[in-house]
Amino acid sequence: MPKYDYLIVGSGLFGSTFACLATRSGKRCLVIDKRPHLGGNVYCEETEGINVHKYGAHIFHTSNKEVWDFVNDIVPFNRYTNSPIANYQGELYNLPFNMNTFRQLWGVTTPAEAKSKIEEQRQEALDIMRQEGAAEPRNLEEQALYLVGRDIYERLIKGYTEKQWGRPCNELPAFIIRRLPLRFVFDNNYFNDSYQGIPIGGYNRLIDGLLKGSDTLTETDFFADRANLEAVADRIVYTGKIDEYFGYSLGHLDYRTLRFETEVAATPNYQGNAVVNYTAAEIPYTRIIEHKHFETFGDDVYLNPHTIITREYPAEATKCSEPFYPVNDEKNQSLLEKYRQLATKEKNVLFGGRLAEYKYYDMAPIVEKVLKIRFPENLK
Ligand SMILES: Cc1cc2nc3c(=O)[nH]c(=O)nc-3n(C[C@H](O)[C@H](O)[C@H](O)COP(=O)(O)OP(=O)(O)OC[C@H]3O[C@@H](n4cnc5c(N)ncnc54)[C@H](O)[C@@H]3O)c2cc1C
Repeated sequence: MPKYDYLIVGSGLFGSTFACLATRSGKRCLVIDKRPHLGGNVYCEETEGINVHKYGAHIFHTSNKEVWDFVNDIVPFNRYTNSPIANYQGELYNLPFNMNTFRQLWGVTTPAEAKSKIEEQRQEALDIMRQEGAAEPRNLEEQALYLVGRDIYERLIKGYTEKQWGRPCNELPAFIIRRLPLRFVFDNNYFNDSYQGIPIGGYNRLIDGLLKGSDTLTETDFFADRANLEAVADRIVYTGKIDEYFGYSLGHLDYRTLRFETEVAATPNYQGNAVVNYTAAEIPYTRIIEHKHFETFGDDVYLNPHTIITREYPAEATKCSEPFYPVNDEKNQSLLEKYRQLATKEKNVLFGGRLAEYKYYDMAPIVEKVLKIRFPENLK
């Protein structure tokens, strides 16, 4: 008889939240991960007393009170509020685009002045498009010019977007940017959600809390010992790559990735903010993250004489790099559909999470998805 009710492949937020809820409903879980640590992409590595977000900066945000209460019950969250700054050729601008940004761009002080400036620039973009005989934006560049005008586009969108996608904006499709929210209030809070923050003590505390009561194994690749691992449990929750599960039999799904360069900087406070975007094309990275600002505020920043910064470089994923962002084009979506068909035939396996669904999810929607699974009746 199998020793466990569930074998959970992957200890990221999906697998760990599942393990927590299954354990609470009396099920026995074994959670395995091929990495040398638990937690998937929210894992933090402590260096110089600072939690370094090893797989990219993670800020939890949600308007779902059930999700917020659930995670805060495991570990309380702090008051971190995401207010990124953009650096364009040494000039600093507040994000998201709001009255502070408009004042920095044009010296305007009232919403009416800001609106009129943007309207004037949008009209210029429209006139150029019409002169060229275009009825609607033909690419991302025209779409952005049409939505926010030349100054915001050239200083804050163009270079950043080109670095992210590895292609010029006038060769990218317009639909990538459907909306570019403009706020005519002085408000630098990036998210519109009711709740946001970072777990006090870091994300590893959240993962440890979620995995309490489950057995765990790291450095254990499901595919390295598949037959034995499948035999340890009645059911499998699989959160790895869907194409890998089927041995890439129909082909590989593509991903974009990020390369991180992390260093200890010889100052207690490098940039005064957790997130600074570099929006000029000539700077090869898109952001610098200063990790201590996620968990230390005000003068407490100076209690630690060190700081850790990470430069983020977007890149095409290779076989060896971390698969971060799915590529949502037709080719990949149609391949995904074929793998999904195969997945429906796997009777004792639940496919969940960003890799198994080949879909970008923020953290809160992942938790929400698992909370919606009613244990244990609704599982195959
Ligand atoms: C760069 C970046 C920044 C992000 N920032 C934010 C943010 O600020 N806010 C936010 O809300 N969300 C953010 N996210 C999204 C967040 O990371 C995801 O929502 C979350 O990690 C999804 O959890 P998951 O369990 O599905 O996947 P993962 O965390 O990737 O976990 C999957 C796990 O499965 C393991 N695994 C895979 N294959 C195998 C195998 N064969 N055998 C054993 N183990 C295996 C992997 O090692 C991994 O640990 C960000 C994502 C990225 C990529």
